[in-house]
Amino acid sequence: MAFIKLNELELEVEDGIDVVEAARQAGIEVPHYCYHPGLSRPANCRMCLVEPHVFFPPAGKIVPDRQLATACTTFLRTVPPDRKLDGKYDFIVQTDSPRVKKAREDILEFLLIHHPLDCPVCDQAGECDLQDFSYRHGHDKSRYLEVKNVPPKKDLGPDILLYSTRCIVCTRCIRFCDEVAGTGELGLINRGSKDEIDIPRAHDGTPIQLLDNKLAGNVVDICPVGALTSKDFLFKSRPWFMKKANSICPGCSVGCNITVEYKEDGVYRLKPRFHADVNQYWMCDDGRLGYHYVNSEDRLQLPMKRVGDELVYTSWADALDIISEKLSSAEAESITIVGSAQGTNEENYLLGKLAREVLKTDRVGLFGRKPGEEHKFPQFTIEADKNPNTRGARNMLNGSSPVLEGEKLWENLSDAKVVYLVNGAPERPLDEDEKTALENVEFLVVQDILLSDVAQLADVVLPGTTFAEKDGAFTNSKGWVQRIHKTIDPPGEAHVDWEIIQQVAKRLGSDMDYRFAGEIAVEISQNVAGYQNATHQEIGDGGVKLQEGNDE
Ligand code: SF4
Ligand code: SF4
Repeated sequence: MAFIKLNELELEVEDGIDVVEAARQAGIEVPHYCYHPGLSRPANCRMCLVEPHVFFPPAGKIVPDRQLATACTTFLRTVPPDRKLDGKYDFIVQTDSPRVKKAREDILEFLLIHHPLDCPVCDQAGECDLQDFSYRHGHDKSRYLEVKNVPPKKDLGPDILLYSTRCIVCTRCIRFCDEVAGTGELGLINRGSKDEIDIPRAHDGTPIQLLDNKLAGNVVDICPVGALTSKDFLFKSRPWFMKKANSICPGCSVGCNITVEYKEDGVYRLKPRFHADVNQYWMCDDGRLGYHYVNSEDRLQLPMKRVGDELVYTSWADALDIISEKLSSAEAESITIVGSAQGTNEENYLLGKLAREVLKTDRVGLFGRKPGEEHKFPQFTIEADKNPNTRGARNMLNGSSPVLEGEKLWENLSDAKVVYLVNGAPERPLDEDEKTALENVEFLVVQDILLSDVAQLADVVLPGTTFAEKDGAFTNSKGWVQRIHKTIDPPGEAHVDWEIIQQVAKRLGSDMDYRFAGEIAVEISQNVAGYQNATHQEIGDGGVKLQEGNDE
């Protein structure tokens, strides 16, 4: 640990930490634009200048260094005893001296020379570092009277627009494409005050390569101003009108930590949330843009039952009556319960209980999205398993016989008479063999969120919920158990999935009586190997790693 003096504070800080982070940990803001902790540090914006102090032998005292230093590239570390300042400090740094304040004002004035005053129509307003730092550290007026540069707005790719006028040429976006995605689509054209970000183009201006990699959306997050915008979110909402909740992306088994931004009428966007061991600062565009089904007008809002060839709406009471009658009259060995790799641990745990304790069947399977492609980038991987909770669902459904998956599941279903299947991956297509197996089932119950391929074959359909409408936990492929949180209400009479399962169990005589998902998690922590520390309280916002006993 290094012992430093930061303004008037005496602090012990980790050896090797930079001044931006050390100050942040002490609650002191060092404004910056080009610096991002997940990228290299060109120190080109000069906004983070601070004033280191040095010992000046001729005067025999400690004085401010001749030059200010960029905080992002000033690393604090323990120095030998004979170089300590005042006999005890490894570093003395001032972040608020008159010289530092003047430098910040000048840099901001410089950055704003060509910047338009279009905050009222800019998507970034309200979460813009330029706006915030100008307000806190800048001048209140510009001395620049000449004509501003007005570079063109550019369509960079399927989801990315560049408002070049707003760009402050911090180069974060270029470095992201070079270092994290490794795709290198962005570069800098022209020179000096005419600098612009662009994609490769032919001489006539036609794009040769678009910003079209699966991580492209991250450049919008890291752009400190409103230059890079997402077409998906453009002009949809002011940030301050949205609420935020921490959650986990349901797009694949990586389990990226995300923030769901939402209003009462739906989910508006997903953004990555830092997790050192899971996704760092990033998420992929499949996950980022994959939330639209949550807001779909076609969401199931009422139970349905089959009348002849048709599925017609019915009440919850009627649907549950039909299901309990069929389940209680069927032979236990002819019933298969199928959990969902899209569902939470809590839902799958209750399904396992429904199967083994209530229905006394060991025929328990797992359904989910089909595997897709793995995508490996220099600093990020999108996994082939397109379900967020395959590992957790397996752990929860496991019993005296192994969980049926893939071919084994479809073989099993070919002689099942009653099947209760939870889906949750509405776009998941059924191939012919799968369809035939489900068509042969005498009585099929499907819990789903849209009238999916599998729901269309059901005798009773129960409207369930998406990741955005419920509490619970997913276990990612590496064994991180992480929380999802309810944001919006489910549509119509759709219900949280574990509550539906509990209702079915109760109709069959079970005394199951959980009141919220956290109670199920406590029971999981007592009963499922490796989940000893996976109560919701312990999982918190950072997740917990599975403990010994879970060796998948
Ligand atoms: S577009 Fe944004 S991230 Fe890229 S250089 Fe300009 S300001 Fe920085
Ligand atoms: S990598 Fe997987 S979990 Fe992460 S954002 Fe993409 S789809 Fe979601």
